[in-house]
Amino acid sequence: MKKLPRVLIVEDEPAIAELIAVNLRHNGFQPIWSEDGESAQRELDAVLLDVILLDWMLPSQSGLVLARKWRADSRTKPIPILMLTARGDEPDKVAGLDAGADDYITKPFSTQELLARIRAVLRRRAPEQVSDSVTIGDLALDAGTYRVTFQGQPLKVGPTEFKLLHFFMKHSERVHSRSQLLDKVWGDHVFIEERTVDVHVKRLREALGAAGVMVETVRGAGYRLTAQPPALLRA
Ligand code: CA
Repeated sequence: MKKLPRVLIVEDEPAIAELIAVNLRHNGFQPIWSEDGESAQRELDAVLLDVILLDWMLPSQSGLVLARKWRADSRTKPIPILMLTARGDEPDKVAGLDAGADDYITKPFSTQELLARIRAVLRRRAPEQVSDSVTIGDLALDAGTYRVTFQGQPLKVGPTEFKLLHFFMKHSERVHSRSQLLDKVWGDHVFIEERTVDVHVKRLREALGAAGVMVETVRGAGYRLTAQPPALLRA
């Protein structure tokens, strides 16, 4: 028998959880429902799941806290997290992506939309499991150990910035438009605005410190990572 993808639904409202579970079951997924972070943790300890649907507003620990916790745990780190949120404003989306969520879906959503997002995170997640490392100039990134160093010094880079940097480094010197970056780094995100890219590029530069100048803005075109930015050559 074919193994059905297991989806953990962390949602405190039974009516919503039930509706999601029924739809998932009808579409070839195996739903598991937890009404709070504690019971979700027990499920995760017992069995490895394929996707987590995580409600933002939960009774004790919020979805944001849980996403952060599960991202920090090497066992749960590879599981895609799709956040369910009633809020639609940008700072929350950025906060959730920083916490390690792979995508968002804003309530109320259609079944088709939810299924499409689940399939998309499952597709996207798979190739990222391959660990590799890349070095551009004095900047080095190791996707296996999740480490970034500049001139041998370790840098602290958030999860979204790490993905962005990984992409830039694998495709250095080339200019990438905001929409290309959304597509390649975030996935098929029609719901994320292009200025989200600017927010994360800004954070990436800050995280890179002296190496931040390697991430160049190409006016009217987008961004690129270059091994020899003028500012570094002058230094
Ligand atoms: Ca809720």
